Amino acid sequence: MGKTLSFNQRIDNFWNKVDKSNKCWIWYGNINHSGYGVFFNGERRTSVQRFVWELNNPKLKSGICVLQTCNNKLCVNPIHLYIDNNRRPDKDTPSKLWDNTIIDKDTDCWLWQGKRNKQGYGEITWNGKWYRTNRLSYSLTHENIKLTEEQQVCHHCDNPPCINPAHLFLGTAKDNAQDAISKGRINYSHIQNILSEQDVITIKEELKHYRYGMCRQLAKKYNVTDTAITNIKNGWNWKNIL
Ligand SMILES: [Zn+2]
Ligand SMILES: [Zn+2]
Repeated sequence: MGKTLSFNQRIDNFWNKVDKSNKCWIWYGNINHSGYGVFFNGERRTSVQRFVWELNNPKLKSGICVLQTCNNKLCVNPIHLYIDNNRRPDKDTPSKLWDNTIIDKDTDCWLWQGKRNKQGYGEITWNGKWYRTNRLSYSLTHENIKLTEEQQVCHHCDNPPCINPAHLFLGTAKDNAQDAISKGRINYSHIQNILSEQDVITIKEELKHYRYGMCRQLAKKYNVTDTAITNIKNGWNWKNIL
């Protein structure tokens, strides 16, 4: 008795926990482990920004996030809220993978929150088999590509638990080793065809006068993969060398 609140009472309770005295309206109630406010709406726990969004807009399908343009995780000012469709590259994607992530606002990495292996890569069961979360993310967002065992899904962001499809690229084991070494993750000087710092300086110098087809030419010249050169060109590798 007394526990069943009307929806309007819940709304009153909600706004009682919000400070509207600044441009950002700050939630003072419960917070989840990712720093967003949470509120029991009578049916389920929901993020406070989603709760406010749905007070003013039609109910959202599950799997779509409401975020703040002000980047203030506790802000519920309706004019600072927007729907982030980008987080869901494919709306048919089972939410089992996408929902179990936290977005790092600084890097835009989608950090897998489930099981991780010793190297920090996420692991997930899918149709009865174990998968690495980065591989699954890549497969789900590149339907035409069937990953072979030889192919590796590498990270531009060098962040193993990240599953943001925009941060993933396909490589071979050799690319991955090259990538890891250039980012200082491992240092296997015995692996062949590794660029020296001097090579990278020269390559960067040449890339300043980039012409179409140049990555391939440089890859041939230095006997490395095209990806290795593209990564240098795009500033994803060898960030320490300007
Ligand atoms: Zn705000
Ligand atoms: Zn990332």
